[in-house]
Amino acid sequence: MNSTSVVHIGCVMLAVAAGFLAPVTAADERPNIVFIFSDDHAPHAIGAYNGWLKSVNPTPNIDRLAEQGMLFEQSFCTNSICGPSRAVIMSGKHSHKNGFMNNGNSFDWDQQIFPKLLQQAGYTTALYGKSHLKGQPQGFDDWKVLPGQGLYYNPDLITPQGRTRINGHCTDIVTDLAVEWLKQGRNADQPFMLMVQHKAPHRNWMPAERHLTLYDDMDIPEPNTLFDKWHDNAPPARYQELEIDRHMHLNFDLFVDLKPEFNGNALMGRFDRSAWRNMQRMSPAQLEAWYAAYGPKDAAFHRDAPVADDLVRWKFQRYAKNYLRCIKGVDESVGRLMQTLEDLKLDDNTIVIYSSDQGFYVGDHGWYDKRWMYDESLKMPFIVKWPGTIAPGSRDASHMIQNLDYAETFLDLAGAPIPADMQGRSLVPLFKGKSPEDWRKSIYYHYYEYPSVHMVPRHYGVRTDKRKLMHFYQFDEWEFYDLANDPDELVNQYENPEYAAEIAAAKRELERLRTFYDDDSDVRVKPAAWQLEMRTTESAN
Ligand code: CA
Repeated sequence: MNSTSVVHIGCVMLAVAAGFLAPVTAADERPNIVFIFSDDHAPHAIGAYNGWLKSVNPTPNIDRLAEQGMLFEQSFCTNSICGPSRAVIMSGKHSHKNGFMNNGNSFDWDQQIFPKLLQQAGYTTALYGKSHLKGQPQGFDDWKVLPGQGLYYNPDLITPQGRTRINGHCTDIVTDLAVEWLKQGRNADQPFMLMVQHKAPHRNWMPAERHLTLYDDMDIPEPNTLFDKWHDNAPPARYQELEIDRHMHLNFDLFVDLKPEFNGNALMGRFDRSAWRNMQRMSPAQLEAWYAAYGPKDAAFHRDAPVADDLVRWKFQRYAKNYLRCIKGVDESVGRLMQTLEDLKLDDNTIVIYSSDQGFYVGDHGWYDKRWMYDESLKMPFIVKWPGTIAPGSRDASHMIQNLDYAETFLDLAGAPIPADMQGRSLVPLFKGKSPEDWRKSIYYHYYEYPSVHMVPRHYGVRTDKRKLMHFYQFDEWEFYDLANDPDELVNQYENPEYAAEIAAAKRELERLRTFYDDDSDVRVKPAAWQLEMRTTESAN
C-alpha cells in the first residue's frame, strides 16, 4: 500500500468520524461512461437498425447492446466528416463555433471541452484510438491516439511519453489499451469516462487476419440505389468523385494485386498511400495470411474480367465485404469491453454508448464515403445501455438527436454544470423515457470541405422528420425531399409547385436555425473556372 492510499483511508476515517461519509459515497455512485466510437460505421450496417445489410448479421454484440439498452432511430451528425464530428462532440458546439470545420483544420484543445469539465467534476478520463483532431489531447488522465488516420496493421500511437509502435491489428490494439486501463490503469476511487475510438471501418478497409475470408461464401445484398444516376438531383450529385464505378480504385481501395513494391505507384495520384505504407510494415506472417486470402480472389477476378455493370457489382462485393469485415472487428471489441465490465463487476453502474462519427454509403446511390446531407451519411448510430434506468430493448423513433448533444449529456450524467454556450441538449431525459414538449423538431447541418477529395460542394440544410431542404450555396443549387414518400431521396421536389409552400416554410426554418446557432460562416467562395463550367455544362444539357 502506498502512502497516498494510507492518507486517503485516513481521510475517509476522519470523514466517517465527522459524519461526512455520505457525500463521499454519493460521488462514488455516479455512473461510469464507456463511449465506444467507430469511424464511418453506417447505421444500416448494424443489425439492430434493420437496414438492408441486416441479413448479413454484421453486429451481434452491438445488437446485444441494443437489446439491453435504447436505440435512437433519428440520430444525426451536424457535419458528415471525421474530424469535425469529433470536434462537435468534444465542444458541444457546431463546427463554425469550435473552429474545426474541415479535416484541414487543427483543433484548438485550449477551448472548453467536456473531458476537462468532467475532470473538474471528479471524473477520471481516458482516450484511446483515433482522435483525428491533431495536437496533444487535453482533458484526459491517460491517452494514446493514432497519428492522423492511423494504420490498420502494426500502427504507431502517440502517447504522452512520445510515439510508439504496437504490433497487431488496430481495432484489437485499441481494445487492449481500453481493457488494460479498466483493469489496472484508472484511479478506482473516481467514476470514469473512457473513450474507445476505433479507426475501423474507415477507408482503406483492411480487416484483421482472422476476418480476411469472412463472407467469402456469400453475396452481400446490393442496395436498391447501386445504379442511381442522380437524374433528378441538383448538379453537385453528378459532379462528385465518390462513385464505386468511376472513382473507387481497384488497387488503392480494393487491394487488387496489392504488393508492397507498388508503393509510390503513379496510379495512386493525389491519394495518400496508407495501404501501401501499411503493407511495408506487415510481418511475414501477416503478409502470408493476406496473400492467402486475396490471391485466389484476385486470380478469379482476372479470369472472369468483369466489365461495365458487372464490374460495379464485383467492386461493390469486394468493398462491402472488406467494410463489413472491419466492422466485425469493431463488434468483437464491443463484446470484449462489455465482458470486461461484467468481469470487473462494473457493468451495473456503467453506461455504455456505441456511436460512429457519421454514416456512410455502402453502395447506396452508387457511392462510398460520406459528406452529403443525404440520410445514409447524415445518420449516426446511437445506442446506449444504462442498467437500472433505461428499459432494455427500448427504441426512440421520434426524437431527433445529434452529436451536438453528447457533451451536455455526459456532463448531465456526471451531475456537472452545463455551460450556457454549448449548443446541444442533454439526452438524459430521453434515456429516462421522457418526452420533453419543447424537444427540437428540426436539425441543422453544414458541410464545408470543398473543393477537396471526393468533390462534394459545401452545403447547409434543415431536416425534419418528413422533409429535407439542402442548399449548395457556392452554386446556389437547392434540393428538397419528401422523406415520407421518398426515403431514398431520389426525386428532388425543389421545382415542384405542389411543394412551394412547404419549401418556403423550410427556408424560413433554415434561416431560423442559422440565426439560432449564429452561423454566418457560408463565405461565398468565388467558383473557379472549371466549377463555373460545371454549371454551364448542366445548363446546356
Ligand atoms: Ca468518419
